[in-house]
Amino acid sequence: MKTINKYSIGLGDRFGHQGSAQLKAIIAASEKGIDITPVWNKSNREHITIGTQPIDVRIEADSVTKSAGFNKPYFVDADHINLDTVDRFIECSDFFTIDVASYIGKKAGETEIDEFLSGVEKYTGDLKIEGTKLLFKTTKSQIKQIAEKYLFAAIKAGEIYRIIEKAKGNSNFITEVSMDEVPQPQTPVELFFILKMLASENIPVQTIAPKFSGRFNKGVDYVGDPQLFAKEFESDLMVIDYAVKEFGLPENLKMSIHSGSDKFAIYPHIGSIIKKYDKGIHLKTAGTTWLEEVIGLAESDGEALDFVKKIYTESLEKIEELCAPYADVIDINASSLPSKQEVSEWTSKKFTDTLRHIPGNPDYNPNMRQLIHVAYKLAALQMKDYYRLLETNEETVSKCVYENVYNRHICRLFDI
Ligand SMILES: [Zn+2]
Repeated sequence: MKTINKYSIGLGDRFGHQGSAQLKAIIAASEKGIDITPVWNKSNREHITIGTQPIDVRIEADSVTKSAGFNKPYFVDADHINLDTVDRFIECSDFFTIDVASYIGKKAGETEIDEFLSGVEKYTGDLKIEGTKLLFKTTKSQIKQIAEKYLFAAIKAGEIYRIIEKAKGNSNFITEVSMDEVPQPQTPVELFFILKMLASENIPVQTIAPKFSGRFNKGVDYVGDPQLFAKEFESDLMVIDYAVKEFGLPENLKMSIHSGSDKFAIYPHIGSIIKKYDKGIHLKTAGTTWLEEVIGLAESDGEALDFVKKIYTESLEKIEELCAPYADVIDINASSLPSKQEVSEWTSKKFTDTLRHIPGNPDYNPNMRQLIHVAYKLAALQMKDYYRLLETNEETVSKCVYENVYNRHICRLFDI
């Protein structure tokens, strides 16, 4: 079976221009002794918004790794696919994030539920996570509720897995199951039974992406109590460890965090907990590369700065349309957004300081940052100009992308 290494990072490159800069960050980490497998991910939604095809991500990943002489593993992730979208990703992807969010809460058949319940009877009462101090109290009705909420989703994950397996063979890809895009986080107890369901479906899941407590808004920091997150994360890790042994799941099964990027407040916690237990991690970072492109263009000044100012102005006009698909993962306080007039007078420095995620900088504005994050569609509508500016200002832009991935994400997570 194709397996994923201990550490991996999901990198999003919506416009397909920053693969080399992202890879440079991976190479810099390996020079510091941290071996990270790059996984380029792009969701169906992003492909549709921009007008790209899944094959474009494969072409980019192959080409940037080749030209850098990068001879370690890397993957192309069919991000958040389900039964409706899996087909066009099959050929060119070798990592599949099977998203079961839309199936959660739908009830499986009574026989399937009964069968599951009889298989987990021994975990009723005291659920002790062996080798740890964790002890959860469970009741029959609680486990039944969990089955009613998640079993159907697990069965669907099995269906999707087998579609991919049939086309690619069972040893040629990595399987992730994600359930982060739902309103309610999963508790460690729920995670335990979900893993049992996935094992019963014979899904060789190597990374699992639960939803955690707190807000994981796109491109900005974690909103919530980092200590509580750390406790939850640690419990989940113990549960995964026990479930692997108990249910015969792949030994390298690890946590995948769909971070939405920039979760600086919790990266050090994640880093120290995985170090403490010698565990792996997959950190999905996604769309901040686009934000770095905007910042890089703003830094380049002149026509490039004017272009990104125009993107911002248009984003104010289309704010509702742009935010709608991302409503659950952004929190924009519209009254804190600078006006079109204000921004038109901004210098390059003022624009980059406002947008760049440097928490201590008094000019940093997370509201504007989130709005620009979801405004990439506007650049896609002016693709020719956008690509020309990216190419003319490549050096500045790629430096921004590199520094973001390396300094702000990798170094914080791995304590480099
Ligand atoms: Zn996700």
